Amino acid sequence: MANNRNKMQADPRSLIYKLIPIEGMTCATCVARVEKGLSVLPGASSVNVNFATEQAAVGFKPDELSTLDVIESVEKSGYKVKKNKEIILAPGLQDPSVAAKIEEFVGNMFGVLDVTANTANETITLSFIPGAIDLTAAGKILSDKFGLNITTGQGKSEIENILVDNQSLKARRTLLKFVLAAVLSAVVFVLTMPELFPFVTTVKSNVRLYISFVLTSIVLFGAGRQFFTGFWKALKAGTADMNSLIAIGSGTAFFYSAFLTLFPGVETLHVYYDTAAMITAFILLGRYLEAKAKGQTGASIKNLASLQPKIALQVANSEINEIPSAQLNAGMVCLVRTGEHIPADGILLDENAGIDESMLTGESLPVDKTSGDLLLGGTVNMDSPFKMRILKTGMDTALGQIIKLVREAQGSKPPIQKLADRIASIFVPVVLILAALTFLVWYLTGHTFSVSMVNFIAVVVVACPCALGLATPTAIMVASGRGAREGVLIKNAQSQEIFHKVDDILLDKTGTITSGKMKIAQTSSFNYDENKVLMYAASVESQSNHPIAKAILDEMINRGLELQEALNVKTKPGFGMEGDVDGKHIYIGNAAFIRRKKIAIEENILEQLNHISKKMWTPVFVAIDGKVAGLLAVADHVKEEAPEIIKFFTTRNIHVSMVTGDNERTAKAVADEAGIDKVYAERTPERKEDIIKSLQEKGRKVAMVGDGINDAVALTRADVGIAIGTGTDVAIESADIIIMKGDLTALSTAFRLSAKTVRVIKENLFWAFAYNVIMIPVAAGALYPLWGIMFNPVFAALAMAMSSVSVVTNSLRLKRIRL
Ligand code: ADP
Ligand code: MG
Repeated sequence: MANNRNKMQADPRSLIYKLIPIEGMTCATCVARVEKGLSVLPGASSVNVNFATEQAAVGFKPDELSTLDVIESVEKSGYKVKKNKEIILAPGLQDPSVAAKIEEFVGNMFGVLDVTANTANETITLSFIPGAIDLTAAGKILSDKFGLNITTGQGKSEIENILVDNQSLKARRTLLKFVLAAVLSAVVFVLTMPELFPFVTTVKSNVRLYISFVLTSIVLFGAGRQFFTGFWKALKAGTADMNSLIAIGSGTAFFYSAFLTLFPGVETLHVYYDTAAMITAFILLGRYLEAKAKGQTGASIKNLASLQPKIALQVANSEINEIPSAQLNAGMVCLVRTGEHIPADGILLDENAGIDESMLTGESLPVDKTSGDLLLGGTVNMDSPFKMRILKTGMDTALGQIIKLVREAQGSKPPIQKLADRIASIFVPVVLILAALTFLVWYLTGHTFSVSMVNFIAVVVVACPCALGLATPTAIMVASGRGAREGVLIKNAQSQEIFHKVDDILLDKTGTITSGKMKIAQTSSFNYDENKVLMYAASVESQSNHPIAKAILDEMINRGLELQEALNVKTKPGFGMEGDVDGKHIYIGNAAFIRRKKIAIEENILEQLNHISKKMWTPVFVAIDGKVAGLLAVADHVKEEAPEIIKFFTTRNIHVSMVTGDNERTAKAVADEAGIDKVYAERTPERKEDIIKSLQEKGRKVAMVGDGINDAVALTRADVGIAIGTGTDVAIESADIIIMKGDLTALSTAFRLSAKTVRVIKENLFWAFAYNVIMIPVAAGALYPLWGIMFNPVFAALAMAMSSVSVVTNSLRLKRIRL
């Protein structure tokens, strides 16, 4: 126990103990460091770090220690707290005010970093410290408290689970309820309107009342049961939600009528069975249409999930067996026949294969693979049957990761919606007060009880804030799906909101503006044999995955040279590599690197250097034992579409610049060809970040586009980090938006999508608000004093159903909108 001596010794029984998993501890001194850091936190009463289990047990008084403090302390000590992100299905989560309450409640739990409750797909996305939170217990608490049906603790959801269509099942059930409610409401309507349907007078009036009573009961408490159970659960929790409004509205009409039926004698008064029943029917119709539309918003994920075949052909002991893809394991060998989808990620065992990867990368041409190449699950075998060895399965595959990203994006909320949610959460009580006032005003101005009541009901029913809760999530869901289809993965809603508003876009050079497929254009050597220089360079570069390394290795293979063993190899990001080959110390890198190593660059070499830089080639120095022995020129070319895309942004008044670790001359030449006027050259990864920082300090919003490990820091720092890659890189972890194929056109697609999504969100929010602002006074009877118009609660129900439907429909436009 490393207790802080100055701290008052707390009674251990009054403490909560949590286990915090810590990453990166390598020895006992690390333990002491973490312990020391944690124990000076004001809230922590006892701290005990265990090296073997890599956990810190922290005891604290309830509410006295914040999650962020713990993480910050551990990070300050130089380690990391393990974090986890999980999407929890929360069937029944439909009310934005409940969502806001869940976010507040869960957000205050120790161990939670971030929580988003989403009514559009009925999920809760949770970032948390595993161990500090018991998901199963938390799910149970939430279920009880908010009347949901949360199941957690099964760990990762399998790809196939996604295909289980909850929304359409729900839509079908709601449709049945609606049909029942509609038919019975029609009967009740006829029975209560003898003025319109004279034939019903053949039935005695009190019998008509009793029949109406029974039928309406079935509608309200059978078909519309969910509203009353929801109301009751909210009431028990001391709150009110959307269900409360519907239950209060229809319930008031029903119980008033029931009272008149059961205590006759006041027969002259009108009953409102038809109102109660029809409100329920219309709201159910709205819910049905909403569920159907919501099902469509999730279609893109299902399309992705359906790429994974259900069945795989396993090859074992020269036998071929069909097994469910879910049972595949790393190491198994599978046969993939022509035209079939690859069941999981793995390595090609046969000589050659032609694969259509368009579904994952958007790249339309088939990709040629040779033995040992990586194959991605979900892509299609275009040529002949081949065998592969499975490496990764299920959610660990590239496809699984894409699905995970899209789902996370769909579950996240842009800042704009948080405001709407907060408003929705105070909406219900405000509406109830307004409705009560409406009743009082009508009653006190000399109207009958029943007329006052009808207006009360109209206000309650019309003010339901569902449209408000659907405005953003549905748009984000459709947009994320659309993005995935276009080869753009947007990891969070926030970057959707920001991207189209950026002031600056910084583009990395190699691999972003240029193809990154480099070739050796020219080699020269000084006092050494050219092939020998190349061999030394290649031997060191064989441990790098930089595009330059690949170019040097290709050249070496072309010349039929042999690699030698390289020892003590070190990578200097932004500069080059070093290592020992054949007892000689080798440096490979740019001029800055050579100068830094205090190696002289002689006159004749400088001449060469000039010549190379003028040609837009990147010079690569090779120094052997402290002397420049070779100068390689590496050629790359600007991507075909780059000038057009850069123009796209500059014409929109966005300032485009290039950042690169390469030398000024080469960088300028590339920038000229791409149409960029501002160049930051010779920037190490940290200095790339500095540029962004200083722009941000001037109040500018910055997007950074990069492809490599050397861009990761900058991608994190930028307001919007955009990575280029196929879904496996470090850059992808750090980025907010991922462009799956190398084509920069996706940048403008992402930009337009961002702008259009935000426009749809704003439209949705505007209409949802405007609708309430206009309809509440109308329902309260604002038109009555002037024109004698009273608003029938049945129309209120219809209007409110239509408002949700129109919001969802508007969001669905993003599926087809031109990008
Ligand atoms: P960029 O910012 O253009 O993507 P990097 O930051 O990766 O470029 O590299 C900057 C410069 O450092 C390169 O232009 C090259 O001169 C040198 N360099 C980096 N890595 C290597 C390497 N593995 N071998 C040789 N030179 C390298
Ligand atoms: Mg790069």
